[in-house]
Amino acid sequence: MSQPLLSARNLTKRFGGLAAVNDVSVDLLRDRIHAVIGPNGAGKSTLTNLLSGDLPPTSGTITLNGQATAGHSPESISRLGLGRSYQKTNIFGPFTVWDNVRLAAQSREGFSPWNPLNWLSPAHRLSGINLRCERAIELAGLTHRTQTVAATISHGEQRQLEIAMTLATEPTVLLLDEPLAGMGQAEAERMVELLLKLKKDHAMMLVEHDMDAVFTLADQLTVMVNGQVIASGSPEQVRADPMVQAAYLGE
Ligand code: ADP
Ligand code: MG
Repeated sequence: MSQPLLSARNLTKRFGGLAAVNDVSVDLLRDRIHAVIGPNGAGKSTLTNLLSGDLPPTSGTITLNGQATAGHSPESISRLGLGRSYQKTNIFGPFTVWDNVRLAAQSREGFSPWNPLNWLSPAHRLSGINLRCERAIELAGLTHRTQTVAATISHGEQRQLEIAMTLATEPTVLLLDEPLAGMGQAEAERMVELLLKLKKDHAMMLVEHDMDAVFTLADQLTVMVNGQVIASGSPEQVRADPMVQAAYLGE
């Protein structure tokens, strides 16, 4: 089996007396979608924030593309190949689709003498970033909206835009927090198609409540309740687990 691109071991995050994430381990593999489900308050977003470096864990370790990420800023973790989206829409409404993606792409840059891009002339460097943005917008299915103001596109397209912003940093690992939230059926189907496309060449953690989407997309499924993993395995194994049915699926 291939090495995980991201490997988290025994992650715990305490907020005062509450263990929002309690001894959770996850592996994310290339070309695989690892879905994380669980009721509100289970700790799914907190887990995402730990993996992306937005929150430091109380204990536990995270390895991304072979490097321990402890003490790294979210920007530095992004440069190591991690891209994430947020549960709440996180775009600049007054800006065009292009400018949103361009800003996201830029945010990863920062000067590093080890980045060969930084030794190119400014014009070369710009054309490299612009190409990345064009590709990300195309992959997310928004080429026809490139010059449209973000606030005026549909909710579904705004969530596609967030994916494009994430892709513009060329991540190998994608963490998506409820990308289908608030979508109608047609929008949700379009997003599922997009996620299936992104599965290739990425390792993905998908936090999602839409069970049709989860069972369509997931190669591995982890169920969290009260900060803890109560089941993890193939979607079929997890679906058949009586504890999961009692606690969450309500079947
Ligand atoms: P989920 O995404 O599964 O709905 P969260 O990770 O958002 O769950 O929250 C898990 C638990 O941690 C909840 O009880 C929530 O209130 C708590 N929590 C989340 N973030 C914070 C924070 N910054 N400070 C204190 N408690 C928090
Ligand atoms: Mg959440």
